[in-house]
Amino acid sequence: MAGTVLVTGGTGYIGGEVIEQLLAKGYTIHTTVRNKAKSEPKLRARWPDAGERLKVFQADLMDDAGWAEANAGCDAVAHVASPFPMGIPKDKDELVIPAREGTLRALKFAHAAGIDRFVQTSSAAAIAYGQPEKDHFDYTDWTNLTANVPPYIESKTVAERAARDWVAANVPNMTFCSVNPVAVFGPVYDSDVSTSIELVKKIVDGSIPLIPNMGICVTDVRDVAEAHVRAIEAPAEKVRGERFPTSEKFLWIRDMAEAVRARVPEHAGKVPKRPMPDWLVKLLALFMDEMKQIKGELGNVRDVSGKHTEEVLGFTFIPAEQTLEDTVRSLVEKGIVKA
Ligand code: NAP
Repeated sequence: MAGTVLVTGGTGYIGGEVIEQLLAKGYTIHTTVRNKAKSEPKLRARWPDAGERLKVFQADLMDDAGWAEANAGCDAVAHVASPFPMGIPKDKDELVIPAREGTLRALKFAHAAGIDRFVQTSSAAAIAYGQPEKDHFDYTDWTNLTANVPPYIESKTVAERAARDWVAANVPNMTFCSVNPVAVFGPVYDSDVSTSIELVKKIVDGSIPLIPNMGICVTDVRDVAEAHVRAIEAPAEKVRGERFPTSEKFLWIRDMAEAVRARVPEHAGKVPKRPMPDWLVKLLALFMDEMKQIKGELGNVRDVSGKHTEEVLGFTFIPAEQTLEDTVRSLVEKGIVKA
């Protein structure tokens, strides 16, 4: 039976898809945005038929205002909002503090409103970093924070740890679980694309002329949202305390480029073919933030398994090649990429 779900961060890529799927299943949605005047018209334009089934609340991760109202009357929370910037901030606390404080704020207000079901959008960032000796990971692994990991990785790890510690100390019977996506791709709704989508955009629009020797795991935004929906609907004993990585497969960037060329040849004219030598990445990393991030990933396999999620939640992920094809087609269709 459909109920009412608070989805935090409804303006975001993943938050939007979670709302999309829940509305389609008959749920009423409460969602938080930072700027209601700016964001509500966009959300109403996306779901013109939702009417009273969509309620928009202004609430910032760093402030108590609005959170009690947003949680009132809800049966479950999907806490998706968290800072996810493209670059590396000067001060890591710009990410770590809102991620941790925002998660704890969302949890505390949910508990105060009598909500038992809480799904946190964590990340593979909380699973697969700071362990140079390993290349395969699953839901049992945790990022090693004693290694010097980048601020975003730290923010997601700290936020998931903080949530689990708070639940264990205060409401151990709460039906809390996390969804831990790898890099998320798939159809986009508008030109305000998430950081993850920027990579495919750059492969297709020619702004990456050579292919660096790095790889990533791919997951589809529709699978990420489905994992949230299933985590909300599954029997409590099946999901309580669980971690649900969503990851279809690890692909080298050269394989991603190849998949785009094979599946959407009509839009692959600018997709790079030649490799970028490691020495060039290292040189560019001296003055380009983006290259600094790539330098740390050269030649690394960081393969996160989503098998546990498929088994426990009972569905099969969309193949990565299909996800990439759908990403490119939607980027072109929305006029975001002229390829
Ligand atoms: P996104 O499109 O950039 O969305 C981020 C959302 O968080 C936006 O709705 C944003 O609201 C909200 N937010 C950020 N800072 C906030 C603050 N201080 N107060 C309130 N809301 C705030 O990113 P996304 O890809 O959908 O990511 C959503 C979640 O998934 C994040 O937790 C991210 O860490 C996680 N994740 C993403 C990926 C990926 O590859 N995309 C992979 C793993 C995990 P505004 O509109 O107000 O900015």
